[in-house]
Amino acid sequence: MAHNTTWEILIIGGGLAGLTAALHLSRAGCRVLLIEKYTYPHHKVCGEYVSNEVLPYLNHLGIDPFAIGARSITTFQVSTKTGKTLKVELPQGGFGISRFAFDDLLYKHVRQQATVVFDTVDQVTFAGSTFVVATQKGDTYQASFVLGAFGKRSNIDGVLGRSFIKQKSPWLAVKAHYTYTFPEDTVALHNFEGGYCGLSRTETNAVNACYITTFRSFKRFRTIPDFQKEVISKNPHMKHFFSEAEALFDKPLAISQISFESKRPVEDHIFMIGDSAGLIHPLCGNGMAMAIHAAKIFSELYLDFAQKEHRDRAVLEKAYTKAWQSAFLKRLQTGRRVQSLLLQPVLSDLGYKVATAFPRMVLALIRQTHGKPF
Ligand SMILES: Cc1cc2nc3c(=O)[nH]c(=O)nc-3n(C[C@H](O)[C@H](O)[C@H](O)COP(=O)(O)OP(=O)(O)OC[C@H]3O[C@@H](n4cnc5c(N)ncnc54)[C@H](O)[C@@H]3O)c2cc1C
Repeated sequence: MAHNTTWEILIIGGGLAGLTAALHLSRAGCRVLLIEKYTYPHHKVCGEYVSNEVLPYLNHLGIDPFAIGARSITTFQVSTKTGKTLKVELPQGGFGISRFAFDDLLYKHVRQQATVVFDTVDQVTFAGSTFVVATQKGDTYQASFVLGAFGKRSNIDGVLGRSFIKQKSPWLAVKAHYTYTFPEDTVALHNFEGGYCGLSRTETNAVNACYITTFRSFKRFRTIPDFQKEVISKNPHMKHFFSEAEALFDKPLAISQISFESKRPVEDHIFMIGDSAGLIHPLCGNGMAMAIHAAKIFSELYLDFAQKEHRDRAVLEKAYTKAWQSAFLKRLQTGRRVQSLLLQPVLSDLGYKVATAFPRMVLALIRQTHGKPF
């Protein structure tokens, strides 16, 4: 069905980036339509550690993750694949919350202000000054501006012919919740041959275990339990985890083809926010904060632009690209460097020795992959 209204802003994807932008813009009086594939709440593959840098902005939007039980995290523990451990106090700290609860919390606020439709966007075309967006259920919507908040990999990347989608990516990730004795104030990153696993508590007290590895490492073992036993459990911390922890999911969630290639923050006049603009390596624990921050950057620029008498879309596109790059480009580059260092056994062992001797270096790296409170 073709809908005749022209929305001011249409957002494709209701993860953290899309929901935050919907909330900010609709609160400021914009007419916002958000289209999301899945109903809430739902689990997502994610480490579920959020940097505290988001707290001032979330509070400003009236969102309090601690009101629904988020756990305050102040300590970072990292281990090499043989289990050698280093602990540091996190410079800013963060909190542990499941995506099941966090996305749902935002959605409950968004639905009071904006229109949310559950459907999958299939096509986006731009002609003159209007977008036409078509969905799987056969609806078409018109909008003056479209935000791409569809995450790290979507059918829309294919529709737009983005280059990263044509290349195979070696990365896959697995996540599940467990009952396990684990300190509430800690996020751990345990390395293993070909990958690493994050552990932290969520609002339900469950421990989230989320690991990323390459298809090459994984394919020698036919099942997730075999891989966990034969490869991940070579790290003694993870051996203890998998032998003691009780799984709370029927089966773990898994995703593949995770790409860390560069993307453009504006493509075919669509403003990309969150992972659709660029995904930082998960070990940095900063992707969610970046998604929320990008929503803020766009919303503020747009609201300023909307007040202007003469509006030139190209000016907004240029301003957003510049602001996005200045906020995130360095972090993405540092994340890439740290990831490749961690996954090379010799460099990783050397890195551990240097880091134990100079823990300030670890803090400096954490600072470089995180932003200031916003
Ligand atoms: C293994 C792993 C571990 C991670 N761990 C952490 C961590 O501990 N801390 C951290 O800060 N970050 C972490 N991240 C990164 C973090 O998960 C992302 O940066 C964050 O989810 C980005 O939010 P987003 O809103 O951009 O995307 P998403 O949360 O992926 O949301 C995109 C939404 O778009 C919807 N969608 C897609 N296509 C369509 C369509 N065509 N029509 C309608 N809807 C559509 C999807 O259903 C989805 O809900 C991790 C990432 C990975 C891969």
